[in-house]
Amino acid sequence: MFDLSAYNTFNLTVYAQSGRVIAVPEDLEQPVSGPFIILGGGSDVLFTEDFAGTVLINRIGGIELGPKLDPEGHPSSDESQASHIMVRVGGGVLLDELIATLIEHGICGLENLSLIPGTVGAAPIQNVGAYGVEIGDLIATVEARDVFSGKQITLTQEQCRFGYRSSIFKEQGWSTLFITHVTFKLPLNFEPRVNYAGLQSCEFKNAAALRERVIALRNEKLPNPKYVGNAGSFFKNPYVSAERVAELKAQYQEVPCYPQSNGSYKLAAGWLIDKANCRGIKHGQVGTWGKQALVIVNLGGAKPHEVVALAKYVSAEVRNKFALDLVPEVRLYGKHGELSWDQI
Ligand SMILES: Cc1cc2nc3c(=O)[nH]c(=O)nc-3n(C[C@H](O)[C@H](O)[C@H](O)COP(=O)(O)OP(=O)(O)OC[C@H]3O[C@@H](n4cnc5c(N)ncnc54)[C@H](O)[C@@H]3O)c2cc1C
Repeated sequence: MFDLSAYNTFNLTVYAQSGRVIAVPEDLEQPVSGPFIILGGGSDVLFTEDFAGTVLINRIGGIELGPKLDPEGHPSSDESQASHIMVRVGGGVLLDELIATLIEHGICGLENLSLIPGTVGAAPIQNVGAYGVEIGDLIATVEARDVFSGKQITLTQEQCRFGYRSSIFKEQGWSTLFITHVTFKLPLNFEPRVNYAGLQSCEFKNAAALRERVIALRNEKLPNPKYVGNAGSFFKNPYVSAERVAELKAQYQEVPCYPQSNGSYKLAAGWLIDKANCRGIKHGQVGTWGKQALVIVNLGGAKPHEVVALAKYVSAEVRNKFALDLVPEVRLYGKHGELSWDQI
């Protein structure tokens, strides 16, 4: 049995049948037999029970800087003309460590994503985003290997079909791909993205200052999984029609809603949970975080079924109050592999 306690940030005591660390892509040449789950940092997964299969843990390292590009996207031999740089990163590198390293080298673009836990290889899967930036916008290519056939493929940004917490890697038929490397195209000049609450009224002289602010904001609001088990936002923010927003506004003037280019509106799931009286609640050893209701926390020694029960309770309360269905952002796994929300 392979202990998964250190490989899920919910800090649940669960086991897989076996586990393999993948340190270089060639480690995937040994074929996998039977069910498998790929894991990076385990910061976006909920194991609802022990897993009767193999976990493949991505620890492929390496950060390769270059080439530099001019504003037209051509390799630039003249340093002073270079506006961007390509950076190829091993999927097992921690995203936050990458951001810190890039900033040290004067490379910008990812600073708004500071302190998001997990690995670079997992980041394209749900197109991680925070403070107005989504990682897919800065990705040039993703390299992956099929764990059964060993076939290696490279997808361009367009082929990855990035959307809100989604990408091609979540679509049916793409789940046997192990992301080995991600190549970013990043700006060399600091262009702050500060149109997000908490950053708007500030001036930042460089990417390091913006990173520092993002870290401070996140530390104020979110529990650190080192001390309090959690997997970040448990549910996705729901999208609704303009008519639905008007109905909500008639009842709750202050409802936070963000217009989208297709005419729909994004609602804040945390606000809905709060209004459904589920912020800071505790059921046994599981609760929702007082400073951000969207985060479900393991208060110590929680069992997987308790986390599931609380998540179901919260979503039922939101449905009762707003007639809206919350969908988990966290990936759910059971004995034989991934489960849908309806299956748990
Ligand atoms: C405190 C906290 C705050 C968070 N804040 C944010 C946030 O602001 N924004 C945000 O978007 N997310 C956030 N998250 C969620 C999480 O950090 C991201 O989803 C992250 O990308 C997960 O990385 P990981 O390496 O831990 O992936 P894991 O949890 O190990 O895996 C997540 C999924 O990706 C798959 N996967 C992992 N690696 C690979 C690979 N190499 N190839 C193929 N599939 C793979 C797994 O099978 C699983 O389905 C937060 C989580 C926590 C705990």
